[in-house]
Amino acid sequence: MKIAVLPGDGIGTEIVAEAIRVLDTLELPFEMESAPVGGAAYEAHGHPLPESTLKLAKEADAILFGAVGDWKYDRLERALRPEQAILGLRKHLGLFANFRPAICYEELVGASSLKPELIAGLDILIIRELTGDIYFGQPRGRRTAVDGHFPGAEEAFDTMRYSRPEIERIAHVAFQAAQKRSKRVTSVDKANVLETFQFWKDVVSEVGKDYPDVELDHMYVDNAAMQLVKAPKKFDVVVTGNMFGDILSDEAAMLTGSIGMLPSASLNSGNQGLYEPSHGSAPDIAGKGVANPLATILSTAMMLRFSLNQPEAAERVESAVKQVLAQGLRTADIWSEGTTRVGTREMGDAVVAALSSSITKKTITG
Ligand code: NAD
Repeated sequence: MKIAVLPGDGIGTEIVAEAIRVLDTLELPFEMESAPVGGAAYEAHGHPLPESTLKLAKEADAILFGAVGDWKYDRLERALRPEQAILGLRKHLGLFANFRPAICYEELVGASSLKPELIAGLDILIIRELTGDIYFGQPRGRRTAVDGHFPGAEEAFDTMRYSRPEIERIAHVAFQAAQKRSKRVTSVDKANVLETFQFWKDVVSEVGKDYPDVELDHMYVDNAAMQLVKAPKKFDVVVTGNMFGDILSDEAAMLTGSIGMLPSASLNSGNQGLYEPSHGSAPDIAGKGVANPLATILSTAMMLRFSLNQPEAAERVESAVKQVLAQGLRTADIWSEGTTRVGTREMGDAVVAALSSSITKKTITG
């Protein structure tokens, strides 16, 4: 088994270092190889996703990704900006299904901006289609308008589109994920206004007939945004397109208190996956040793489960994270009165220690 390690920029290098220590502690037979990506790759090779990095990613069973981006690259032409690396990886590896669980840990109920009773026990899964929609649709660009409200004016345009197979495959992923949970799927669309999302709704309903054990409902995206803060526990699996999923998954992330806690997985049809925290490179805190590494560490648990077929190791990593939270250790983003503030490294140390003791216990008890 081979893991491509792409730390990227900003806090990416700090949090991935801790995730690697966690993986090393497991002493499982996989090989890890690192390569630059994003701004770091632009500095080293003149491109955010160099051929050598893409080759390593394609050959690996799984990719551990940190984060990319820095404000200093904002003036570069779009194709050379760090964020293009992640779009390029999704496209070249066919990573069409993005899993973003939003779980509220008991110990962190107070870190949410919502009332504790609304989010205690929250466990929802947002499944976002990742390679289609308006983010990839062609044509796009700038031109002089020939019609519309201001003919002759400069305008910009993008294209929203989804094909039947693209919708069918993400719908199957969502229904199958729901079968392993509480058997409910909410498909989020904007069918009242957009032709693309009327089609989305129709195709998801058709696929739903193959899963009579799963209850399907449909919700407009504006209502879903409201319901997520009004009664988030009403949801179980939410499936939606690329743009709506981008926005709703960040909203769901904040329900749990900190984006620093939330892992993600992006899978292709062969179960090869890219695993990364839901947050970005956080240039405002990069290099200070204060970033929360838990989202990245929890992403390795998803990697162990989905791509490396090591469900037991995944559970051990998740239990180790719960244990350090129960010990009262908190990075600055989740700190509250009465808990102990620690930095990135100390948090990593604590998870490694919890994991080592669980491995020792397992060895002793056989
Ligand atoms: P961000 O997620 O990097 O940061 C948002 C806020 O959350 C900041 O205040 C930051 O300090 C905080 N934060 C994020 N991760 C944290 C962690 N682990 N621990 C503690 N606090 C944390 O989003 P942004 O500021 O909008 O973007 C910064 C850069 O990241 C941009 O260049 C953006 O394009 C890029 N970005 C990259 C990805 C990716 O690599 N997949 C995703 C989103 C944004």
